[in-house]
Amino acid sequence: MSLLPRRFRRLQFVLNYRISDLTVILEHVEKSHNLSAILRSCDAVGIIEAHAVSLRERLRIFQNTALGSQKWVRLRNYNSIVPAITQLKQRGFKIYGTNLGIGSIDYRNCDFLGPSSFLLGAEKWGLSQEAAELVDQSITIPMSGMVQSLNVSVATAILLFEVLRQRQVAETLPTNGEGLIMQHRKKLLLEYAHPQIANLYRDEGKDYPELDQHGKIILDISNNITICQ
Ligand code: SAM
Repeated sequence: MSLLPRRFRRLQFVLNYRISDLTVILEHVEKSHNLSAILRSCDAVGIIEAHAVSLRERLRIFQNTALGSQKWVRLRNYNSIVPAITQLKQRGFKIYGTNLGIGSIDYRNCDFLGPSSFLLGAEKWGLSQEAAELVDQSITIPMSGMVQSLNVSVATAILLFEVLRQRQVAETLPTNGEGLIMQHRKKLLLEYAHPQIANLYRDEGKDYPELDQHGKIILDISNNITICQ
């Protein structure tokens, strides 16, 4: 399907606001409406990649049935919490574990200006003990009602928009593509504009083709991949 100029402009606009130093880790959040709502909030604040510790089969069913935000926010799956947290820590992320118990601090007292990752727990059980021990900081959204906790997608949205608020005040939010390195931006633009073609190149293990100023693929005959534009 050809790409309309308006659609291409929209994709470029969205990428101007994308942020690579904010993410979420979902530990066995497995109701698909919660996953969808969380990815929707991620997209709304400019997150490009979220992380999930989940049974592969459950996530596959979700990816196949959900429509919408997961097209714009990549969901990486792990079969245990350790690699998910370790790789984010190695990339300089501070891990904020959401926890309702003693020892958690009010999320409004945290500084989310640096690379930040929120760890959210399962609908019924919350975070595992293993996950809770790996976080850098436990945080909570204070509650004063009869119910003990929020829905996990609501908690996620509250936290993400607090990050946005703080970064807005600090004037560190990207507005013109500063949130992504150029190579990453080009890669995402191709994936957003031509998802099927991006899949084709990935399956073939080839570098993505270049786009012209209108978003059309510049064909590279040496690449030997047949595509219809
Ligand atoms: N009984 C569970 C517990 O004790 O954690 C409740 C789980 S809650 C429905 C699901 C997830 O939503 C939690 O693991 C946490 O990630 C997030 N959450 C819900 N309410 C929260 C709050 N007030 N502060 C921080 N996170 C919250």
